Amino acid sequence: MKKTVLTGIRPTGNLHIGHYFGASQRWVKLQDEYNCYFEIADVQALTDNFDNPEKVRHNVYELAIDLLSIGINPSKATIFLQSTIPEIAELTVYYSNLVTMSRLYRNPTVKTEIAQKKALFGNEGESVTYGFVGYPVSQAADITAFMGEAIPVGEDQLPLIEQCREIVRKFNNIYGNVLIEPEAVLGETPRIKGLDGNDKMGKSLGNAIYLCDSKEVITEKVMNAITDPAKIRKDDPANPNICMVYYYHKLFSGDEVDTVCSECKAGTRGCVACKRQLIENICKVLQPIQEKRKYYEEHIDEVTKILEEGSKKAREKASATLKEVKKAMQLDYFD
Ligand code: ATP
Ligand code: MG
Repeated sequence: MKKTVLTGIRPTGNLHIGHYFGASQRWVKLQDEYNCYFEIADVQALTDNFDNPEKVRHNVYELAIDLLSIGINPSKATIFLQSTIPEIAELTVYYSNLVTMSRLYRNPTVKTEIAQKKALFGNEGESVTYGFVGYPVSQAADITAFMGEAIPVGEDQLPLIEQCREIVRKFNNIYGNVLIEPEAVLGETPRIKGLDGNDKMGKSLGNAIYLCDSKEVITEKVMNAITDPAKIRKDDPANPNICMVYYYHKLFSGDEVDTVCSECKAGTRGCVACKRQLIENICKVLQPIQEKRKYYEEHIDEVTKILEEGSKKAREKASATLKEVKKAMQLDYFD
């Protein structure tokens, strides 16, 4: 039996290069070896975008196209929409008794995200909703509904997987051994920094290069990237380790990286030329993905059909799990 892998992505924007290097290159490989589910987590996206349903709906399609463009193959893996699986919402209600409010507030991912919102939106970012604080519970429902065993994530998600494991252990202790404790699987580069130097590139942080960005947009973003502030003139030597352009060269520029580093240190490379070289290399990597995107943009009915069929298949699995859960909780009245 193949192991089950579940990945959730929030439809809050397009996939970015943080996803690509931090996670999604691996998603493509996993689908050959594992039983893979890719969840477009629209219910979770609503926890902090409930007042903007258009944004979430638009990004469901954007994300589905991104997933197909990077090589997720619907004949190998199941791509589905969270909101079409009411069993996940029902599991969330049962699991919500198994976690305390203080534990949720102490969850490092929730804490960081609340702090980021505060930095972006001022005091308004501090007033978090019940749904937002509780999203780790709903994420535990996402994973366990499919009996997910391996969960490929970026580093920012580790505390959420730990939260899920705690819920599973508690459930199994009280009601009997029904659920599987999932394991987080980190990629080689578990956290890609943002263009602004922020510890994490994120869709909701406004610091991302998206896989679908045009050359013009990438040029504008890279040209504004933070470099060593001590380098004022073109031939000043600089420290590449505090330069975001060098940071991305390490991801995109293969064998050229050593030259970038030594010329930067020696003061024989200007920042503008260095940025231009990076822009070319980013565009080279993104070109095949963008070509596939064009196809799906022109065949949107195909995308809808893939989502519909994937959601139908996913629901069958989730409803089998819910049945077992309810039986264990003595809620199987009329079975
Ligand atoms: P949002 O800002 O809306 O939360 P996001 O950019 O964090 O968006 P998610 O949909 O929350 O993206 O995350 C999808 C997956 O990609 C998760 O496993 C997450 O850990 C991973 N991921 C997201 N950003 C990065 C990053 N900068 N580096 C590595 N992995 C990342
Ligand atoms: Mg996130």
